[in-house]
Parts: sequence; C-alpha cells; structure tokens
Amino acid sequence: MRILVLLGPPGAGKGTQAKRLERAYGIVQLSTGDMLRAAVASGSDLGREAKDVMDAGKLMPDAIMTEIISDRIEQPDCANGFILDGFPRTRAQAEALDALLDRKGLALDKVVELKVDEQALVERVSGRFACAKCGAGYHDKFQPPKQAGICDVCGSTEFIRRADDNAETVRARLSAYREQTAPILPYYRDKGVLVEVDGMADIDEVTRQIEHVLNG
Ligand code: AMP
Repeated sequence: MRILVLLGPPGAGKGTQAKRLERAYGIVQLSTGDMLRAAVASGSDLGREAKDVMDAGKLMPDAIMTEIISDRIEQPDCANGFILDGFPRTRAQAEALDALLDRKGLALDKVVELKVDEQALVERVSGRFACAKCGAGYHDKFQPPKQAGICDVCGSTEFIRRADDNAETVRARLSAYREQTAPILPYYRDKGVLVEVDGMADIDEVTRQIEHVLNG
C-alpha cells in the first residue's frame, strides 16, 4: 500500500501531479480542497463555512479537516494507497495524520515537497482554469487549449475557474502556506520521509521525479 503526501504552495502542481499518479498507479487522489469545493456546491453547513474561509484564503479548522480525512481513508478505493493533496496543512494536522495511520497499522511512505519560485506562483494560479465536464486543467498563458474555447480531452466548451484563484486571494493563500504549512517540512525531514522535487521543471519531468521517489 502506497501512501504519499504532496506538499507545496498553491500553484506548485500538487493537483496536476496527483491526478497523473492516480491514473498511473491506481492510488486515489485525496484532495481536501476538492472535498471542500464539493461541500460548497452541495450547500451543506460545512460548505457554507468552507466558502467564507476559502474566499479569504485562510485555513479550515484542524479538527474538521482531520475528521474528513479520517472518514475518507476508510473508503474501499483507498485500499491500494492514496496521495494526499492539500492535507496536512498544519503541524497539528500532520501529527493527527500520523496518529490516524498508526492506529490502522499504516505509515507514510514519502512526503514530496514541490519546490517552486514564489514569484511565479501568483501568475501560475491566477491564469488557471479547468474543463467543467472532464476536469482537464489549463492555463491562459502556459497551457491554453489547442483550439481556443474547446477542451482538448472531451471537446466540451464549458470551463470553470476557482473562486479563490484571483491575485488577492492567492497572496493570502501563500501567506497561509508560509506561516502554517511550511513549518511541517522540518517535522517530516526529521522523520526521514521528506524528498524535495523541483516543481519548476516541466510537468512530465516533475512526474518522472515523483515516480522515481515512489519506486525508490
Ligand atoms: P486547495 O484546493 O488545496 O488549494 O484548497 C483550497 C482551500 O481549501 C484552501 O485555501 C483552504 O481554505 C481550504 N483547505 C483545503 N485543505 C485544507 C486543509 N487541509 N486544512 C485547512 N484548510 C484547507
């Protein structure tokens, strides 16, 4: 069973890489951001709380996020392993995750830190969008669809942009990363599971480097 954490600031490529690994290795992507966006779309109490927090670029409470992950990893599709994308985001979440895995007799294989140049992130994040039908990811400047307005993968003409992918919220999300998430890195370094990968390399190269870590 493979258990991998992808760490890195917004726009580092966690989601893109997690989706590729999910397809290649049959290990499921667990994106807490996607789970919260689904809750927002459903109009649940959790979704109402999450919307305000996400729009402000802040973090949801640790206890709520830990409970969400704890329930999610019990699902049968996690039996082969999973890639955590967006969790843990604080030291308390990292410790809770260890305790949770420990109780199940499991442990993290590796934590991959996608290292990126912060200057590039605001532009990377504020230009991104996705196909509304199949979820394929695009970018206004770096990865536009081959034919403008038409999804390369499924031919749909509808696209969506995340509400929190605007320059102002991205800056708040970067501060949250710097202040609350980056302090997890030494925690994992001390445990000997942290591996750094150059997130500025091209997408295929980043995938190759993560695969090397997974198979190593
Ligand atoms: P993401 O899609 O990973 O960029 O997450 C989008 C937003 O969801 C974040 O900016 C946070 O507001 C919230 N969020 C996602 N995962 C977590 C988490 N593990 N802890 C706290 N807040 C989270």
